[in-house]
Amino acid sequence: MTIFIKSQYYILLAVVIAVLLLSSHRLSAAQDWSQQLSECRSLEDDDPQQAIDLAQMALAELSQENQTVLYGHFLGCAAWAYVKNNQTQTALRTVLDLERLIGRLADSEEKITLLRRAGGVFHQMGYRIAAVNNYQSAMTMAETLNLESAKIPILINLGVLNSQIREHQQAIDNYQLALDLMTNSGDDRYRPPVLFNLAITLSGEGRYTESLPLLEAVAAMITPQWPDSRVAQIYTGLATAHNALGSHQQALKDIEKTLSILKSQAVHSIDWAVSQVVYAEILIELNQKQAALQQANAAWDFYRTPDHRELLLSINNPLYSLSNVYESLNKPYQALQVRKMAAAIDREFQDSFNKEAMAQMQARLSDSQQRKQLAELKAQQAKNQIELIAVQHNRQFILLLVAFASILVVVFFYWQRLTNKRLHAISIRDSLTQVGNRRAINEWLSARKLPDQPNLRLMWLIDLDLFKQVNDEYGHEAGDEVLKALAKTLSKFINPNRMVARWGGEEFMMISDDITESEMSGFCDGLMTAIAKTDVYHENQHISVTASIGVSTIKEEGDKAWHQALSAADKALYQAKDNGRNCMVCGDKKLSEKISRPFT
Ligand code: GH3
Ligand code: MG
Ligand code: MG
Repeated sequence: MTIFIKSQYYILLAVVIAVLLLSSHRLSAAQDWSQQLSECRSLEDDDPQQAIDLAQMALAELSQENQTVLYGHFLGCAAWAYVKNNQTQTALRTVLDLERLIGRLADSEEKITLLRRAGGVFHQMGYRIAAVNNYQSAMTMAETLNLESAKIPILINLGVLNSQIREHQQAIDNYQLALDLMTNSGDDRYRPPVLFNLAITLSGEGRYTESLPLLEAVAAMITPQWPDSRVAQIYTGLATAHNALGSHQQALKDIEKTLSILKSQAVHSIDWAVSQVVYAEILIELNQKQAALQQANAAWDFYRTPDHRELLLSINNPLYSLSNVYESLNKPYQALQVRKMAAAIDREFQDSFNKEAMAQMQARLSDSQQRKQLAELKAQQAKNQIELIAVQHNRQFILLLVAFASILVVVFFYWQRLTNKRLHAISIRDSLTQVGNRRAINEWLSARKLPDQPNLRLMWLIDLDLFKQVNDEYGHEAGDEVLKALAKTLSKFINPNRMVARWGGEEFMMISDDITESEMSGFCDGLMTAIAKTDVYHENQHISVTASIGVSTIKEEGDKAWHQALSAADKALYQAKDNGRNCMVCGDKKLSEKISRPFT
């Protein structure tokens, strides 16, 4: 009993351990994935190749059906890293995969994150329209799911994009909405960048009374960790606002601060060029036109350097303010030059925007076409494969069938031959005595030629003497036994040149091709002695028999000679019976005379 209880405990313990192991395995697997994902994300900017390797490994192992969200996160990470690794085509394909995957997901916070990710990748690639679409879908979903604080980072993304595509009011609205949400939710993580972006955008729109307090607030938040360019932009913004609002001295201080920050830069940046123009504007207000012209010229030199054209395209066109500066300085020629370039930049921006839209459409179209073609090709291949297999199967089946049929035919013919042989063997055998019958004699003779001299073809007709009496005395069965025994005795005299058959009743016939005249009497003696010695015991009673023999020669092949011989042998047999039985008479007179010892 105790053993039983113990073993039960052991089983329970084993089950518990197994369950624990299994669940810990599952838990650790889930932890592994999230750990791998955060590793992938931490690498995606600085070591994109490593991030790609990690993501690919995960994508190969994850199931798109059962681990969709996780799969999507890794797709996003891979797409981002591809962009950073300059593998634009692969990045595009991957982010389109991500979009498709997102399309299959039900609305959720995870879906919002993935939409932001897709938008971010497009944004990185410069596909601003696709980026806006994804961001806006994320916004709508956050709205539907009532996830207020999830909207904040999306609004920032949207705002940045709005600015880039010159939708300034839209950008301002988004930033302001983000600020409202922060105030409501108490989530202040994104406040500095939002304030900064909003202020810069408002400045760009000339709304200095609104931008100034914001810029001051941001300036108060500056920490040493902030990048120089960002701090410089804040002070340039402050300078612009102060200057516009009449605080020229304050503006001068602000711009000097900017310039002192940017002084450490080895190469002039666009921030520097913008600050030069602002500096010129302030100097004009301070009536230092000569100095202002110098600043303006420095900025103009920077802007018209062909290498800097891309920079001009990426930010709000800064050339208009320079043109205004030249106009204020009464330099209409320069002002016109700058304005022309500003217009060209605007056109180029519009062009690039249109090209982008077309490129995106093209990319999506060719992607879907490629996928469709690939799918069709695969389907066709699969169909061909199936058909091929079917044909092969059919061929194999037919081959098998033919082989089977051939075997059947062979077996059938073999069986038929065997059966024929057996039937034939039966048909030429006497069923009681197992020696041949009359047909066997015919066959034997027709298959052989007449023997050469001195050998004779002899017919021996052997008839049991007074056999009726045996039957009468011992019974018919005993008679059968005697017949079988006689057949056995006669068979002993058989060789390839002789044959024996039951001619009918108690009469046997032997044909010999190898006995000469001189051997006849000797052979006959032997035969009759052997017959006489054939003992049969039936029900403990001894039965012995004798036979009379009529002999004749078959002189030729063919029926005629056969019948002549038969009638001669028959007559000779009668003669032998007449002569008192147990003797041989030769039916051929000439031969009979020649036989050395006449029979009686
Ligand atoms: P003989 O010396 O004159 O030949 O006398 P016999 O009695 O042999 O004469 P007969 O030819 O008139 O008789 C033949 C007998 O052989 C008749 C028949 O009962 C018997 N017999 C024929 N065929 C069979 C057989 O298959 N089995 C048995 N047991 N007897 C048979
Ligand atoms: Mg008879
Ligand atoms: Mg007889």
